[in-house]
Amino acid sequence: MSDDGLVMLAWSDYVGVTRCRGVLASQFNERLETGLGWAVAGQALTPFADIAPNPWGPMLEVRQVPDPTSRVTVDIWPDAPALDFVMCDSRTPDGELWDCCARGFLRKALDDLLAETGVELLAAFEHEFTVVPQTDVAPPFSLAAMREQAQLTHDIARALTAAGLIPETVEPEYGYSQYEVTVSPSQGVSAGDHAIATREIIRECARRLGLQATFSPKPFLDGPGNGAHVHFSFVAQDGSNATYDSAHETGASALARSFIAGVVRHMPAMCALVAPSPVSYYRLGPHHWSCGYASFGIQNREAAIRICPSTSRDPQAQSRGFNLELRPPDPTASPYLVLGALVRAGLEGVRAGLELPPACVTDPAELSDDERASMGIAPLPSTLAEAIDVFLADEKAVAWLPDTMRDSYLDVKRVELTLTDGETNEETAARYRKAY
Ligand code: GLU
Ligand code: MG
Repeated sequence: MSDDGLVMLAWSDYVGVTRCRGVLASQFNERLETGLGWAVAGQALTPFADIAPNPWGPMLEVRQVPDPTSRVTVDIWPDAPALDFVMCDSRTPDGELWDCCARGFLRKALDDLLAETGVELLAAFEHEFTVVPQTDVAPPFSLAAMREQAQLTHDIARALTAAGLIPETVEPEYGYSQYEVTVSPSQGVSAGDHAIATREIIRECARRLGLQATFSPKPFLDGPGNGAHVHFSFVAQDGSNATYDSAHETGASALARSFIAGVVRHMPAMCALVAPSPVSYYRLGPHHWSCGYASFGIQNREAAIRICPSTSRDPQAQSRGFNLELRPPDPTASPYLVLGALVRAGLEGVRAGLELPPACVTDPAELSDDERASMGIAPLPSTLAEAIDVFLADEKAVAWLPDTMRDSYLDVKRVELTLTDGETNEETAARYRKAY
């Protein structure tokens, strides 16, 4: 860690962009208490050089207060300074969490989860991305694809490890020049921090090699999408997996069953938060394993939420490995908003004592409308505009966000719609490919 270098005080905003301000590393400790000021209006930025109409004038400021537990330092490049950043909570001048802070939205959801159920969230994202310039040489999932980006994939593993993250897999994906990285799960708000850190580290590794790692949900219209699936489980106070119950036929605990039911019920509304861009809807849809319906399944990769049982025969490992996966999210959503929305939707199911819906054992797109209706399987929205309408029609979902946060968030999303209105899909894909 270089004392005379810059450390970035960073935050993830409504559009999932990591914004920052830099301070000298030697002065970082002096920033721990009150952080740095930031003009609130910045929260209305789109991922482009545009800002949405917003309720904040030029005077209002929040403090971006660093959480030192989230600091990431990667100093592996001989030709570039260390990548050094720390995630912040946005606080009002009196120290309260600002009601439009994405990290704060997750914090509050996790507090409610703990207060109402006694458990904490353990989660990890699957990070899919596409390397640009893209080649069309190496076949999907091939060793050749891995060797095509041997330096990049090696650097990613090394950089993640240097940052204190634990890479689990670095692998080629289905698309040309598409790769996927997973890191070990983490508990609480750090699951969001680690997702952001992982993406920024991957971006930086690519940048150092003169490449771009794009996390756009559909960087090229003729290739597969980039998802940001979330694997999660609940940790009980005794450290056990509160998602698991060997006595139930699905392996899911009563808590997990109601939680899943809540997610299925609110999944269409959640899309405005977890698949929040015009390009998100080029990705979401049946037959691509990104899912097109709000369904539940066991192992089913066309389900919006699925149980991933452990393959181990050892009962303890079975319990440890049992987890759930949420598949609709994509990387244009802030990981904090994704995890916060997930917890909010699941808690609705827990509060209402909802029963687990029947597991869908096929691609739900293969079922008839009647069959889907009888199983409670609703289609997901097919455009961002529709997603916003569906969100606004779900009274529970609308109440998840404080009023100012909800209205200002939707205003940013509406500007994204306006900006892309009249563009061809190719133009919109190119726009988001560059931004993410
Ligand atoms: N790329 C797919 C998506 O857009 C997911 C593929 C997979 O199952 O890993 O979600
Ligand atoms: Mg994948």
